[in-house]
Amino acid sequence: MRARVLGAAAGGGFPQWNCACPNCVGVRAGDPAFRARSQASTAVSGDGRDWFLLNASPDIRTQIESFAALHPRAPRDTPIAGIVLTNGDIDAVLGLLILRESQPLHVYATDAVTRGLRERNVLLRTLARFDGHVTWHPLVPGQPTALVGAGGPSGLVLTPVALAGKVALHLETLLLPSGEDNIGLVIADGGGRSLAYFPGLAGPTPECDQRARAADVLMVDGTFYTDDELARLGLGTRRARDMAHWPLSGPDGSLPWLASLPCRRKILVHINNTNPILREDAPERAQLTAAGVEVAHDGLEVEW
Ligand SMILES: [Zn+2]
Repeated sequence: MRARVLGAAAGGGFPQWNCACPNCVGVRAGDPAFRARSQASTAVSGDGRDWFLLNASPDIRTQIESFAALHPRAPRDTPIAGIVLTNGDIDAVLGLLILRESQPLHVYATDAVTRGLRERNVLLRTLARFDGHVTWHPLVPGQPTALVGAGGPSGLVLTPVALAGKVALHLETLLLPSGEDNIGLVIADGGGRSLAYFPGLAGPTPECDQRARAADVLMVDGTFYTDDELARLGLGTRRARDMAHWPLSGPDGSLPWLASLPCRRKILVHINNTNPILREDAPERAQLTAAGVEVAHDGLEVEW
């Protein structure tokens, strides 16, 4: 299997257009301790031909251009065999609209996420220009689904995992919360290799623990270091947990849990621009390294 992080930042990216936090100021100034990052998405393939995007970020166009394996091989073509959505947040789905050029697409999403898109957003009609423009593949937590390649089975099987999360911000007063609002993805090949992609995780659950523990490679929510990160920087009052993100630090943070997992690689994705771990020489970064946890950057590749 091969996985490439196309974007490692949380919504807003790094730097974020309207943010002058110390990290955003530093990366704009060219401080070598920082590296800019686009919004979260990862590409995965079992055979190097058919690729699946895990979420469609607002930065999808430049992310596709940044990776030759995703470039068209014919006048109208794409190696992107499917797009799998973990939730309906803008930073996970906006890229779908960017892919509007009459290319048939396969989108995998839960019923709750699909309804939020198809019934609540008139712009999505740009992806209904002809019969078969988008083939929607329903995902049900706990039910394995074969990912379809261009010429038949891709060899990859996806198991959606219900994760603690919340309904997309723009749908909060329109749709009732559901256990299908936020899922993790476990993608396995026929040889027993697996990737767990959990970019949004509000807190621990027994199933999340079991699925993460069993994966070779885990890519997991690294949005915030502390629960009160935004308040400390004077950027708002909402806590990480209010936004359904499990902060890394503290005795009940995700870092002690991550340190206990036997996965071959444990990689943080969906990192908010305020997070001190974005500074490569930060003490918080050293704590991650000591726990065997990596910080993703755009272009990071794992092959196993
Ligand atoms: Zn910032």
